[in-house]
Amino acid sequence: MSQPRGIVIVGGGLAGARAAQTLREEGYEDRIVIVGEESERPYERPPLSKEYLAGTAEREAGFVHPEGWYSEHDVELILGRRVTELDLPAHEVALATGDRLAFDTVLLATGASSRRLRGPGSGEGLAGVHYLRTRAESDALRTALADGGRRVVIVGAGWIGLEIAAAARTYGNDVTVLGRETVPLSLALGDELGEHFGALHRAHGVDLRMSTSVAEIRGTEGAVTGVVLEDGETVPADVVVVGIGAVPNDELARAAGLDVDGGVIVDEHLRSSHPDVYAVGDVAKAFHPVLGRHLRVEHWANALNAAPIAARAMLGQDVVDDLVPYFYTDQYDLGMEYSGYFDLARDAEVVYRGDPAGGEFIAFWVAEEKVVAGMNVNVWDVSPAIEKLVRTARPVDRARLRDLAVPLEQLTAQPAT
Ligand code: NAP
Repeated sequence: MSQPRGIVIVGGGLAGARAAQTLREEGYEDRIVIVGEESERPYERPPLSKEYLAGTAEREAGFVHPEGWYSEHDVELILGRRVTELDLPAHEVALATGDRLAFDTVLLATGASSRRLRGPGSGEGLAGVHYLRTRAESDALRTALADGGRRVVIVGAGWIGLEIAAAARTYGNDVTVLGRETVPLSLALGDELGEHFGALHRAHGVDLRMSTSVAEIRGTEGAVTGVVLEDGETVPADVVVVGIGAVPNDELARAAGLDVDGGVIVDEHLRSSHPDVYAVGDVAKAFHPVLGRHLRVEHWANALNAAPIAARAMLGQDVVDDLVPYFYTDQYDLGMEYSGYFDLARDAEVVYRGDPAGGEFIAFWVAEEKVVAGMNVNVWDVSPAIEKLVRTARPVDRARLRDLAVPLEQLTAQPAT
């Protein structure tokens, strides 16, 4: 007897769980199966380098749904299993166990993996060398950091590197961050605002070394002892964390012959080059109608908010993913949210509302008289207004942007000046 078909979701993360939820909310009654490689049910990743790593968040709080939700909603959850093949002619996925699941439509929500240092000197296999992507890796890192007093060297001055640096300092460790670029987070925020984070870390005692290349992670007797730099200096270490980016898990799509180019290429409806295959979250490189190009957004909000769009699109609804990218971070006593298009902000003018030196401000990136991105730092409940400002793309008056007396909502309501 042939299997019931339905929708198979490959990937047991936030995007997969949110898509399943939306499918049921939209009245889809056929079979839904989520296949996840990790053995835990879907959980959220942002806390893993923030409050969960810092020991201030409960494990249970990180799950996307309570344990009983999946059976209550007739969503089959197959955990700890790897999908090894997307067989498009047969409309089946194959699992490493040899099992096969038939589908009418498949959603690839396979996420991304940590980019790893490879080869001799990569530190692979040495005790004390950490990456951070999964909850198990966050648990291991917390154990390594929590007692304090250790020499922690972090390779990479991106989001992972800086959030872990903050957690490691808060636990009372000595922390060195080795960044390749001249300013931390410059790719995400530009030099001016990236330097704001650099100064924050230096003020908290981090030895932040930029324009630095790593030659080798060294160890003795199976445990890490230090990081050797290209100039020959060795930075001693008890713990090394490598946070050098993420790579999309697009192998299944590539092997199946779908269009793949640093992520699964999908249109604005999140549909791939095969009409019955959709992709969402970190793995998807989606056509963005505002930018007019394909964009891969490796952030939590994209999984959270694009997955419902993918689910509706799979049900034949006419929906488009035109989300304004959003992300946030918490480091020491700094909390920030960013809404906008860094692509457009790269060469834009930064206009401040509030005083950055005082620690509470909004930075707007203004290009061609329009706000293309905004970042609120220790100023709260403004990100919907910033998002609206970006989305409406109306010409703005810089003086009004700066003026704390003008409510943000009025800026969006203003006719063009
Ligand atoms: P990331 O933010 O992309 O930063 C990676 C950093 O590593 C970049 O500064 C990059 O600099 C550097 N790098 C790359 N290769 C290197 C090498 N061989 N040696 C030294 N430095 C190298 O990635 P991440 O911090 O690893 O984070 C992983 C993923 O999690 C990303 O998708 C990120 O967006 C996400 N995440 C997001 C948040 C948040 O939104 N708050 C928090 C944590 C993680 P170059 O420019 O020189 O390549």
